[in-house]
Amino acid sequence: METEAKTMADILVVEDEADIANLVRLHLEMLGHRVLCCDTLAYARRALDERAWALVVLDLCLPDGDGLDFCRALRDTDAALPVLMLTARSTEHDRVRGLETGADDYLAKPFGVLELQARIRALLRRAALLEPAPPADGPFEVPPLRVDPARRAASRDGVALDLTATEFDLLSFLARQPGVVFSRQQLLSEVWGYHHAGYEHTVNSHINRLRAKIEQDPSRPRLIRTVWGVGYKLEAAEAA
Ligand code: CA
Repeated sequence: METEAKTMADILVVEDEADIANLVRLHLEMLGHRVLCCDTLAYARRALDERAWALVVLDLCLPDGDGLDFCRALRDTDAALPVLMLTARSTEHDRVRGLETGADDYLAKPFGVLELQARIRALLRRAALLEPAPPADGPFEVPPLRVDPARRAASRDGVALDLTATEFDLLSFLARQPGVVFSRQQLLSEVWGYHHAGYEHTVNSHINRLRAKIEQDPSRPRLIRTVWGVGYKLEAAEAA
């Protein structure tokens, strides 16, 4: 299964040859992406001003200018936007020039559609890897739970949970690392800040209270699981 294909990207195609533009559009739309084709650099500049794009496919020879100049100017304003150059110029010198102006990759015409799709996938994947990780305080989900650390709020299936501060901290800690088993001693240390033994019952009772609030059937917990002899872990509920 192609997991990358599930990510829909907005792709700007700058190409004046209608046959090629349509071919590129068709095969990128088959990957689930949205595509806008521009047949001039002026049109492409407007599109870039108007909204954010995930990737630009750029022909080198446009009726109103040179793709290399366009790419250089683009790089001055956006260093991160991936650019795939389409070039009929296939000497090594031309390819190197394309890459030197800031293109991330190039494809020499004529190209196969599978190669086009593979290059686009690779560029989008690399761009996604370079994106900064979400801040530690951003909301996150372990279905059916959602935790919003900045607001200190949590919900189950969209319904707000009424949690005490400690219950919230405990849930938030477990939910940040779903599937990881923590001993009671570790939870005391991480959530309560206790560094000595003897308070494990505190953890047990908080776990029970939390279960009463987040589990459908607290006597048969599905989210916060007991791992006998070790401790507790939180897991996403299997889809019904
Ligand atoms: Ca052209």
